Amino acid sequence: DQLLARERELDSTYQRFRDADLTLDLTRGKPSPAQLALSDGLDADAGGYVAADGTDTRNYGGLDGLAEARALGAAVLGVRPDEVIAGGNSSLTLMYLYLLNAWLYGPAGPGSAWRDGGAVRFLCPVPGYDRHFAILEDLGIEMINVAMTEDGPDMDEVEACVRDDPSVKGIWCVPKYSNPGGQVYSDTTVDRLGRLGTIAGSQFRIMCDNAYAVHDLDDDPPQLANIMDACRRHGTEDTLVLFASTSKVTRAGAGISFVSSSVTNLATLRKRRQVLTIGPDKVNQLRHVRFLRDLDGIRAHMRKHAAILRPKFELVLQQLSALDGAGMGSWTSPRGGYFLSFDALPGLATGIVKLAADAGVKLTPAGATFPYRRDPDDANIRLAPTFPEVAELDQAMQVFVV
Ligand code: PLP
Repeated sequence: DQLLARERELDSTYQRFRDADLTLDLTRGKPSPAQLALSDGLDADAGGYVAADGTDTRNYGGLDGLAEARALGAAVLGVRPDEVIAGGNSSLTLMYLYLLNAWLYGPAGPGSAWRDGGAVRFLCPVPGYDRHFAILEDLGIEMINVAMTEDGPDMDEVEACVRDDPSVKGIWCVPKYSNPGGQVYSDTTVDRLGRLGTIAGSQFRIMCDNAYAVHDLDDDPPQLANIMDACRRHGTEDTLVLFASTSKVTRAGAGISFVSSSVTNLATLRKRRQVLTIGPDKVNQLRHVRFLRDLDGIRAHMRKHAAILRPKFELVLQQLSALDGAGMGSWTSPRGGYFLSFDALPGLATGIVKLAADAGVKLTPAGATFPYRRDPDDANIRLAPTFPEVAELDQAMQVFVV
């Protein structure tokens, strides 16, 4: 009787939401207008167009990016400047280029093209980032799900796959504040990733997308161990390819991007880049360096983002706490990044997303966080709290919880 009464109560609340004609959106992993405004200083006259080494940034050239932009990327990624190329407006473009190069020409130069070696498989920690999976799907590379744990990918599973199956040519990683769960890889996971190259073939690559390297919410953020250092310890630098961008530091889709790898790997990538472009947008690189200055400057800037984002994440967690102990699912409590991950009871994610949509709340489609858009448990839902205003977020989460 109590359960039936509770069901009637929830039904009537849900109906009230439906009648309210809401149009709310929790799908967008985008900075809010208030966050974007933090970087309006980019447009200030910051002292002309000439870079430190005399380069006129308005002209062609400088394929690897400005020296000061490469140094900034090196500081963010924890590597040497000569191990960094500073690119254009999107790190995703650099990821696509890297994989396309590996597929067509080979990650280790002539004779190593993935497409010439039979089946190619890739490990995809799940839930993960749909656009990573889209690149592999586009190239026809078969994706294998690997479980995510609180410490990062299940490394027992990863090592077993790499050891037993030479067709496994790589793994996606978002090592800090993973999309969507917000996990930070543990020191042990980082060390085991560094060791992977000792059991994998020379064509194996760790596609390490550190998109949220500086996107902390707390004043005492979790520390990610240095992945390149782990590779150096194990002599596997050629295995690692790192990416980052300022899309969620300054302007989404109008910032600067970075790719980092061993000097040998960058030389291979450069062969493609020199056909693709005469050089990146150095004007934008220079104004970014002048605006952000260095890693301390970035950290100070990111604290302003955190002041806007922390209340939003807290609100989502506070709303979800209504489900505490209800046995209705579990969720992550990220300390940074852009997302939370909610696991409903198996088989319910699609239904929840539909019920929410019928009440005017758009959620990321169920399955989107898995390769081929297929969540075998139909359980995972990605929540993106950054873009909506607090009041909208509050309403959307009330609907979600009901
Ligand atoms: N990588 C991850 C993990 C992301 O979540 C996103 C955007 O949501 C991107 C990359 C996109 O990066 P960019 O704007 O530099 O292409």
